[in-house]
Amino acid sequence: MSSCQVYRSTRSSQEENLSFEDVVMTGLAPDGGLYLPFNIPNLSKDVINSWTDLSFTELAFEILRLYINPKEIPDQDLKDLVNKSYSTFRSDEVTPVKQLNNNLYILELFHGPTYAFKDVALQFVGNLFEYFLTRRNASKKDNESRDIITVVGATSGDTGSAAIYGLRGKKDVSVFILYPTGRISPIQEEQMTTVEDANVHTLSINGTFDDCQDIVKSIFGDKEFNDKYHVGAVNSINWARILAQQTYYFYSYFKLQKIHPNNNNTKIRFVVPSGNFGDILAGYYAYKMGLPIDKLIIATNENDILDRFLKSGEYAKQQDTGVKSTYSPAMDILISSNFERLLWYLIRDNLTNGDNNKAGQLLSDWMKQLKESGKFSVPESVLVDAKKIFDSDRVDNIDTVKTIKEVYLNSKDKYVIDPHTSVGVTTAYRFIKSDDDEDMQYISLSTAHPAKFSEVVNKALNSFDGYSFEKDVLPDELKALSKKEKKIKLIDEASIEKVKQVIKGELKF
Ligand SMILES: *Cc1c(COP(=O)(O)O)cnc(C)c1O
Repeated sequence: MSSCQVYRSTRSSQEENLSFEDVVMTGLAPDGGLYLPFNIPNLSKDVINSWTDLSFTELAFEILRLYINPKEIPDQDLKDLVNKSYSTFRSDEVTPVKQLNNNLYILELFHGPTYAFKDVALQFVGNLFEYFLTRRNASKKDNESRDIITVVGATSGDTGSAAIYGLRGKKDVSVFILYPTGRISPIQEEQMTTVEDANVHTLSINGTFDDCQDIVKSIFGDKEFNDKYHVGAVNSINWARILAQQTYYFYSYFKLQKIHPNNNNTKIRFVVPSGNFGDILAGYYAYKMGLPIDKLIIATNENDILDRFLKSGEYAKQQDTGVKSTYSPAMDILISSNFERLLWYLIRDNLTNGDNNKAGQLLSDWMKQLKESGKFSVPESVLVDAKKIFDSDRVDNIDTVKTIKEVYLNSKDKYVIDPHTSVGVTTAYRFIKSDDDEDMQYISLSTAHPAKFSEVVNKALNSFDGYSFEKDVLPDELKALSKKEKKIKLIDEASIEKVKQVIKGELKF
């Protein structure tokens, strides 16, 4: 089996040989670490060049194939899974690229069912869950209990709907999404609560987002409950999400190469609005596989742990202020969970001479330090290696709004971007200005449709003559949601017991 198809935990100091199915179905490793492939496939120029004309789904198949052994998912099944996952997208290209100006392109990742980039991965993850469960249950007799997954998650608004649309109607999967009553936008609530499938449950909790998260964490930690209901996670720690996101880096890179065909000097950089580091980490895999990306630029909001790390080599939680509420809430984090995966490769390649077990031990020590003192520092060689491919910047609320205006005014078709995308575009503008290089092309990732973040978008654009949110921004499909019936379970206090009661009641066993 190829070493790119075998997995281990980032924190393990012993040999582990897990299959793709194991890591997808488990999510988080029992030692608290994240699963990753031992090695990243290394593609020759010829192989990469042979991919340039593939469609999005053909490309997805080629990439997934490298990380998933055919004994686990045969070719035809994998093709079917990919085709099914992307048939729900509104664009034939799945993730189309739009030119904004001479050096800047927007990679639109929001053409999936919930208008957010997380659909690209979660549509695939939902189908994978169903595929593995169906296979496990096929050989069972009537009196044997079936393998199931109960996904329990908390959302501050945006991610819950992508999980729900990924898992709706999937056999042997149930999904419970907790959100704080009255603290998410009407569109976000409508998206989650108007899904009719019987396996989807939205719980509106009288409390804060942190309360919801605490409840989810304690449910994960409850062994008895877990053994019975097989609680699963679909947040970005799941390896399948990182894997599925690699496709659009290749796809958009090839698109741009075709736009600038005769210029051998063209260099391509990606700018990625980042929170938990899952999106941009997929770009790192693409780079390590051999895609000649010039730089991956991390764009953070005021929750800037990644930007501070890259400038100092110290990974430190914001201790005094805690997490800040910004105009790009899906990036409001204190630490970036997926950063751990990057660190593991950097440690293994720079500090432990290729020794996987020692790398796991060292990373585990750093994570302990982070937990105990809120920070750790890395040796110079690790930072230098990271900086070969990564750069970063941080964007505040004022500039987020300013850039939404600027893009609207300067584009011929009055293009509207959402605040997360704006954090990326602001960063791209700054880099373009400072590097002043005709041959440098930027692809800035657009992670959400602007209709999902109407408050900030309208704050930026309401003063312009002729601007209308309903007419210019809001898609008909989202307009129609407000007329649909909502399915909500109200829970009057943030109580673990009450949430567990509801889950037990719905699952009826
Ligand atoms: C999740 C999300 C992000 C951040 O992605 P990470 O993988 O957490 O870095 C950015 N924008 C939007 C709209 C998101 O939903």
